[in-house]
Amino acid sequence: MNVTPGTILEPGLLIGKSNNFLAALATDGKRFGLAYADVTTGQFAATELPNAIHALAEIGRTAPAEILVAQNYAGPDLPSDAFVTRRPEAEFQPPRARRLLLQHFHARTLEPMGLTERSSHAAAAAGAIIAYLQETQIDAAEQLSRLSTYQASLFMTLDAPTLRSLEVFERNDSAAAEYPSLLATLDRTRTDMGGRMLRRWLRQPLLNVSEIVRRQELVDWLFRERRTRIDLTVALGEMSDLERLSGRARAKTITPREMLALGRSLELIENIRALLQRDAARLQPLLASLPACRASVDLIGRAIAEEDIGWSKQKEIIKEGFSEELDRLRALLRDGKKFLAEIEQRERTRTGIKSLRVGYNKVFGYYIEITKPNLHLVPASYTRKQTLTQAERFITLELKEHESLVVNAEGRLAELEASLFRQVCEQVGREREEILIAAQTIALLDTASSLAEVAEDNAYVRPVVVEEPVLIIREGRHPVIERALKDAPFVANDVSLGGDDAPQIALVTGPNMSGKSTFLRQAAIIVLMAQIGSFVPAAEARIGVCDRIFTRAGLYDRIGRGESTFMTEMIETANILHHATPGSLILMDELGRGTSTYDGLAVARSVLEYIHNHPGVRSRTLFATHYHELAELEELLPRLKNFCVEIREQNGELVFLHRIRRKAERSYGVYAARLAGLPRPVVKRAEELLGHEARGSTRKILTRILMAHLRASRVCCTRLTLTHFRRLRR
Ligand code: ATP
Repeated sequence: MNVTPGTILEPGLLIGKSNNFLAALATDGKRFGLAYADVTTGQFAATELPNAIHALAEIGRTAPAEILVAQNYAGPDLPSDAFVTRRPEAEFQPPRARRLLLQHFHARTLEPMGLTERSSHAAAAAGAIIAYLQETQIDAAEQLSRLSTYQASLFMTLDAPTLRSLEVFERNDSAAAEYPSLLATLDRTRTDMGGRMLRRWLRQPLLNVSEIVRRQELVDWLFRERRTRIDLTVALGEMSDLERLSGRARAKTITPREMLALGRSLELIENIRALLQRDAARLQPLLASLPACRASVDLIGRAIAEEDIGWSKQKEIIKEGFSEELDRLRALLRDGKKFLAEIEQRERTRTGIKSLRVGYNKVFGYYIEITKPNLHLVPASYTRKQTLTQAERFITLELKEHESLVVNAEGRLAELEASLFRQVCEQVGREREEILIAAQTIALLDTASSLAEVAEDNAYVRPVVVEEPVLIIREGRHPVIERALKDAPFVANDVSLGGDDAPQIALVTGPNMSGKSTFLRQAAIIVLMAQIGSFVPAAEARIGVCDRIFTRAGLYDRIGRGESTFMTEMIETANILHHATPGSLILMDELGRGTSTYDGLAVARSVLEYIHNHPGVRSRTLFATHYHELAELEELLPRLKNFCVEIREQNGELVFLHRIRRKAERSYGVYAARLAGLPRPVVKRAEELLGHEARGSTRKILTRILMAHLRASRVCCTRLTLTHFRRLRR
């Protein structure tokens, strides 16, 4: 047996609420197949992917602990933190992999699992996993009793940079203690199964509106049926990990204590069914997929001794009454003790030696001990066995016979008990499929009630999810930051993108720390939450499903690989422009920051024009920038609108209001010039110049003139000073 990161079965080395995936990637250089398995929960899935980008995105999404690739793998670079194991090429050959899968599942065809002739890469990857497990850990291979295939295109694409930038699973900086990840904010699951499902949902937001609505319905029901939800969470709180424990039962590695916990947890299913019966008509599908697993409940109930009665004293595993033979052996041993006491009493009377004692040691077995002063009273039938300083030890025929009876009984009892326990494991293991179905339903209930509870505690609303590419959020909030703010309330903001009435692109300007990034991220997080079926932090939301969320936001990645910040920005931007569709949501934060002002400005502007004009892109876009010059694009691009973060000056200090509002003024510069009392012809000329196509640089010169003038004339114009403050500093 050879344990690797992807094949750990030992509970102490696993994180309860996380899956531990072993993945395999198969490719012919063009198409890809990815399979992944969690040997502790029995989850085993495979998918066929059209190209390397999708393959990498899917790997990023599943975050496997170990990835198997063929010895000659020459595909795209795998994530640098991945544990990669190279395997013989033959194991990735589709025909061989198919044969192995058929054997493993004792099946005649792989079609019911969704593996058709066209999914040969998925089959190759799944086969490679089985081959690897059969060689390294046969027990683990046996845990995989079913395989499901899925289409990655049914889920929103979320690549690793986006997950990082939105801080879905972990925070990016050291302020982790200050506020948690999105996951931690939403996770009130009571079971490990629910915890794993919530993680899965966050990695795989749905695209299908009716599936999203189905999840919403359940969250909504639990949101409204508060009493039932509380009762449910109490039951869930006592529930152990059915997936992993039933797997350990099947592998016969479960301890008696864990078996008892499994039995108790399965028993709770009845209670949960009773709770669902309160609204049986509505919850019929859930009830149908929550088998009571009675056979295992009864068996464990009859077979396994209660912990506190048995184990601490007599180390009994199997309950009295479960096996006649076991009871007979136990009685024999129990009576044996009584029998020894009787011999001791009888021999004391017979010999008249009051201090006579019957004892036992491992070397000589049972003996009768007589102290030296009484040796003259020892009967002839006693055989001397051992001499001590103060006493002599003897054996008798009767004691010898008893000894062999006891030793045999003890050995037989231990053997029988272990074999009965194994039988219990086997029978429970046989019911594993049913237990796994129940576990999935329990995970679903747990995840949905976690979302309902968070929704109630934080005043979230149920979003309307639609097909059309719109994004309308009224009074949206950032679910994590709003809970972390202590000194000031979180300022809610509206977003309106897409459709006939709203812009496609919102260009947001504002100084550092004014809240631009928060605004961008909260929009994406609200979309993501909506597409997992959750309620969202807003007063109202109408969300058109997004096929993908793109973010160009962080400066943290790839730096370690020696690529410059600007290079990183450009690689990510190129990726966005190549793959975004009219169904995507793009967040761009400070694009162009990594290079000189002029280059950055030029790139930012051309990227915006491309997103706006290319018919294949036209994605809903939130674009935050320091380049105020970009605001003039509003006049050139009809579906782009300017927004800014409101700030106020108070006693010479800038106060961030964190409120995003429409920036309607055509030009601060000219407006300011008028306020500053510049001669009319100068203002007029400036307006003419602004009508020009190439007004960017003109405006810059003009602004400098204006600022110089303002400083000289000491005119106080808050908006002007604030807007141009940074520009002058550059
Ligand atoms: P930078 O340009 O430096 O990246 P930024 O404009 O993107 O800054 P954020 O990082 O979004 O600013 O926000 C800075 C801080 O302002 C946040 O950490 C938070 O404390 C506060 N903040 C942001 N938005 C809001 C809001 N809507 N309500 C209350 N506080 C907010």
